[in-house]
Formats: sequence, structure tokens, C-alpha cells
Amino acid sequence: MDNCIFCKIVAGQAEASIVYETERVLAFMDLVPINPGHTLVIPKEHYPELKDIPPDIGGEIFQVGMKIEQAIKDSDIPCEGTNLLLANGSVAGQEVFHLHLHVIPRLTGDRSGFRFNSVNRSMPGREKLDQMAEKIRMSR
Ligand SMILES: [Zn+2]
Repeated sequence: MDNCIFCKIVAGQAEASIVYETERVLAFMDLVPINPGHTLVIPKEHYPELKDIPPDIGGEIFQVGMKIEQAIKDSDIPCEGTNLLLANGSVAGQEVFHLHLHVIPRLTGDRSGFRFNSVNRSMPGREKLDQMAEKIRMSR
């Protein structure tokens, strides 16, 4: 993809601080980190969203994310907890449409915007939860 910054990084046409690399996956430092150590894990091939990506590459991205997460904790980078976050679609906060997994060190009081909250959050009860489970089971 000609105008994709992540493809340019993979091709060596744009600068990045590389952390780790396999044949199919690349990890590098986020240019605008939420906290120091914020790393992105991407497939080397251009896949815009999760639906586009072969399951085995999706699995490898998560495995590399786990490795990076542990490496951050084992380093002297301040890290009290982590978020592994994949934003899929603009409504979910995706800005670069080359799929990427964020590995984000979290610190007390860092006030990052991500919270388990929305205007739709509620306690729907077992019947509605069972209905949702059924819908997802049926459309697999
Ligand atoms: Zn790309």
C-alpha cells in the first residue's frame, strides 16, 4: 500500500525503532507513546482490519505482543500493568488502517482515556446475556 506508514516501515522507507521481528510480524516503538515503552505489533503484510487477517498471523501477532509485554516488565521501563489493545475500525479508535496491536505499559495516575465504560454499559441480567451468547454462537 503506497500511502501506508506501517508498510513504509516494513519496507525500510520510513524510520522506526524496531523491537522485535519474525518473518511475518514486526514490533516497533509507537511514535507518540501513551507511556514510555508503548510498542506496536503489526503484520508485515498490509491487512486493514481484523476481518482481513489470516488466523495464524493474528495468533502470531498476539504471541509477539505477549513476548514484548514480558520484556517491558523485565526491563527498567516503569510498568505497573499493561493493556494489549487492538482498535478495529474508526469507531473503536483505529487511526492507521494497517492492523496493529498496542502493547501499552500502564502507570498509576497516567489518565489514559481507555476505560471499561460507555453509555451502553449496564447489567443486562442472565436472560439477555444468554440471548447475546446465542447470537454470537449462531453466527460463528
Ligand atoms: Zn500497510
